Amino acid sequence: SSNNGRLLAWREIDLDAVRHNVRRIAETCPAAQLMVVVKADGYSHGAPEVARAALAAGATYLGVATIGEALALRRAGITAPLLAWLAGPGSPYGTAIAQGIELAAYSCAQLSEIVQAAQEQGHVPRIHLKAETGMWRGGAADEWALLVAQARAHEAQGLVRVVGVWSHLACADRVDHPANDQQRDWFLRAVQVAEEAGLRPRLRHLANSAATLTRPDLHFDMVRCGLATYGVNPLSGQEAPVQLRPVVTVKARVTHVKRAPAGAGVSYGHTYRTPASTTLALVPLGYADGVPVAPLEGAPVGYRGKSVPLAGRVCMDQLVLDVGDLQVQPGDVVTLLGPGRDGEHRAEDWAALSGRSSYEILTGLGRPRVPAIYV
Ligand code: PLP
Repeated sequence: SSNNGRLLAWREIDLDAVRHNVRRIAETCPAAQLMVVVKADGYSHGAPEVARAALAAGATYLGVATIGEALALRRAGITAPLLAWLAGPGSPYGTAIAQGIELAAYSCAQLSEIVQAAQEQGHVPRIHLKAETGMWRGGAADEWALLVAQARAHEAQGLVRVVGVWSHLACADRVDHPANDQQRDWFLRAVQVAEEAGLRPRLRHLANSAATLTRPDLHFDMVRCGLATYGVNPLSGQEAPVQLRPVVTVKARVTHVKRAPAGAGVSYGHTYRTPASTTLALVPLGYADGVPVAPLEGAPVGYRGKSVPLAGRVCMDQLVLDVGDLQVQPGDVVTLLGPGRDGEHRAEDWAALSGRSSYEILTGLGRPRVPAIYV
């Protein structure tokens, strides 16, 4: 980390871990294509960097939420198949289609708008029809038969290509949740309706990371993996069945060190009192940088392979460590979050302690004060 000498805090993004994770994921679904999900700037890891690493390791598709995210990947020179699944009236469909970005259609009205925008551009859009299957977020429910009929009619006129039929799982993190089977059955019925209407979607896709790792019966033609790509266990209450490597490590340099007497009340609210005379170290990272506040008190922070506890409440820009009698110096590097090699917590641990999800922990780290460094 000698080249990071001037940084107070930074995130190391291990692209080798991305490649490792993508290979492990791909091995679990040999018959399916792998879409790596890089929305929200690659869960804050950097979308173009993660996308390139994932494609090099065998991913064949990229997935994002918004057209803006998809266009940014094209501007970064990434030409791989790319699906943007969240758009609404007035979205820049024409621009997206001209850039070869594939679009999701959730309704007849949306499909009409996409087709019109494509005609104005003189292009044929590649569409993934989204079916409701029991999450009750996006996707056509009562309208499904109409949507596939409309899509088939447009396809017969050469106005669209329906490449996919897809949906999303609500409870895949719990392998035995009955919703998984119910969503599979509903998805199969939706596919059947599409096929009976004459559509031949090449890519049926339903699975997220959790379903990819645990439910081969839900792989279909493609899986869409975010969390596992970033090395975080997508399952609730059980270990991941493949060995994943966390991609992000959050590090900072101690800025100040001092002794405090026994009984010193540390940080806002004095929620922590030093049990004995001790050394306190100030770390320039806080909740504005994505470190969760209470109840993260006492959480282990890595320092030269040892865990030292976070003391008192995390502040906006800084936090305090009770390092006991360790000889910590200003400038020393501590590890807040990472794979655990330095005695630090993983994203899953922060999630459990703070009552947030691992997704929130990862995406919360994408703040401008803590630059990403690719290692
Ligand atoms: N598919 C869709 C539609 C999503 O919104 C997401 C992310 O939430 C994913 C796939 C990836 O999910 P995960 O990160 O659990 O693999």
